[in-house]
Amino acid sequence: MKYAIISDIHGNLEALEAVLNKCNEEGVERYICLGDIVGYNTNPSECLEIIRSLELVGCVKGNHDEYASNNDEEMIGFNPHAKKAVLWTVEQLTEEQRYWLASRPMRQNIKGLNITIVHATLDSPDAWGYIFDNHHAADNFSYQFTQLCFCGHSHVPLAFCKLPVTARSDNPIMELPEWVAAPGDLIDFEVPTTYRLALKPGLKYLVNVGSIGQPRNKDPRASFAIYDDVEKVLYRHCLPYDIETTRTKILAAGLPERLAKRLLLGS
Ligand code: ZN
Repeated sequence: MKYAIISDIHGNLEALEAVLNKCNEEGVERYICLGDIVGYNTNPSECLEIIRSLELVGCVKGNHDEYASNNDEEMIGFNPHAKKAVLWTVEQLTEEQRYWLASRPMRQNIKGLNITIVHATLDSPDAWGYIFDNHHAADNFSYQFTQLCFCGHSHVPLAFCKLPVTARSDNPIMELPEWVAAPGDLIDFEVPTTYRLALKPGLKYLVNVGSIGQPRNKDPRASFAIYDDVEKVLYRHCLPYDIETTRTKILAAGLPERLAKRLLLGS
């Protein structure tokens, strides 16, 4: 069966629709959501309803979902742009939608699959830490008891693998370059690209699938993954979408200009 792993949608309806069309084309039957459905862009309510209508086998809470649903107006660690977007988002959601967001788990094991999901990190999911290097990945692997773990939060796609203890290697954790573009690669952002990662038995994998609604890896295309549990292969898709419409809506809603600008830059 094919599973789509989607993360950091952040109320970006145009990007989410492009992703779901691609999922249909690819024959995806089930969905896994890594959180941050809302925040930053202007269609939090619509995106939330679409996500809820999917065949979801797992859905964890992101920090924006948390702040948009728990009446915490302090939002420690948030910059003014993010804060403004969360306060605006709260106004767009119904009480019932906020309750649904608030009741998402922080981490989840996916039944029947050897997969754990979390928005930030498994070692302390509610501290909202980031995984950018082998050291962060090592902390996460200590708490990862499944072959695969998917995370989001940084909006930067990355993949790590950990060799089994019996390998006695000095470097048991490795970053997997095939999950991202090589430095200096010339990429046309107007067309889709797919990266492929074949899983090997005995190894553990920690995979960030990138962001649909606000990528920060200098690639403005929506990023998400499809997992084929028969082939044991992960595919990361980068899809162009109608960024201009999303930008226009941000400005029309009176949200910070920076939020519109960063979509074009992928930063
Ligand atoms: Zn996010």
